[in-house]
Amino acid sequence: MAPRGQDISAASLSDFEVGVTLGTGSFGRVRFATHKDTTTPWAVKVLKKSELVRLQQVEHVISEKTILDQCKHPFIVHLACTFQDKWYLYMVLEYVVGGEFFTHLRNAGRLDIISTKFYSAQVTLIFEYLHARDFIYRDLKPENLLLDKDGYVKITDFGFAKRVIYKTYTLCGTPEYIAPEVLLNKGHGRGVDWWTLGILVYEMMVGQPPFIDEDPMGIYQQILIGKVSFPRFIERNARSLIKKLLVADLTKRYGCLKGGALDVNKHRFFQGVTFNDILAKKATGPVIPLVKDQFDTSNYEAYPDSIEEAPISVCTSGADLFASF
Ligand code: AMP
Repeated sequence: MAPRGQDISAASLSDFEVGVTLGTGSFGRVRFATHKDTTTPWAVKVLKKSELVRLQQVEHVISEKTILDQCKHPFIVHLACTFQDKWYLYMVLEYVVGGEFFTHLRNAGRLDIISTKFYSAQVTLIFEYLHARDFIYRDLKPENLLLDKDGYVKITDFGFAKRVIYKTYTLCGTPEYIAPEVLLNKGHGRGVDWWTLGILVYEMMVGQPPFIDEDPMGIYQQILIGKVSFPRFIERNARSLIKKLLVADLTKRYGCLKGGALDVNKHRFFQGVTFNDILAKKATGPVIPLVKDQFDTSNYEAYPDSIEEAPISVCTSGADLFASF
């Protein structure tokens, strides 16, 4: 496995042996790739410039690179290098071999309290780290959490992450995970991350998020009403933490109070969890992914082999737009 923080230099895709597609995002796909010089495995995120321009995502992708460049944390995917050609941007990310947490959660249906504590403690540590640097993540969901070979989380996709000191206004996120203040468009800050943690804890324990509907408008209505129903089997402490995170009033939401992330860490839901041990990866994960070797991609769903669409003939990028990438 390429050690955490290992860097390589690459100037073009021809520096890699490109393998299967690991996953797709809104603006491109992520491919498994072996770096030819070092024979190390990587995940290369390929983003089409014309799509980024068309969907007004240029600023987001620059921010994604800038923020990842500044992060060094065991639960945040490491960005080794970036490069570009006329049509695409490439981000070379540490390859996370255990697959998506999403797949694991769907296979399990729902998680027991010990597993839920294990994963949510890591997310809490991630948010604590990001917020201390004035970054907000804004896109927590099971699809964006990957599992490493030890069954620990690595958060990926910083496409919506942003440096925010006070408030920002862009509407983004995944319907089920959007916080009420984002819907109300009154400006939002780090509180959105704590809201999404509440949704995630609920989803882990119940098997589905608290606000669901076939129509996003139906979801938004429920979020604004804010009534959360708990199945009987949700134990008291879990219920209490979720309720303290899923509070519309930011002056009352856990994580946003004077104690910051500490209020969350110290909540009785986390009784018995030693955060420093989790950070040092001393505890054993509840699920250890089956991994043959560091090049194993079997924990990712197979995608039909893509023939990369021919780039559109006119490059709309304009060299300047991506100059800082
Ligand atoms: P993204 O566009 O960043 O949301 O990534 C889309 C999908 O690609 C993810 O949901 C994963 O399935 C896969 N993926 C992203 N980053 C990595 C990585 N570093 N290692 C392995 N797979 C990844």
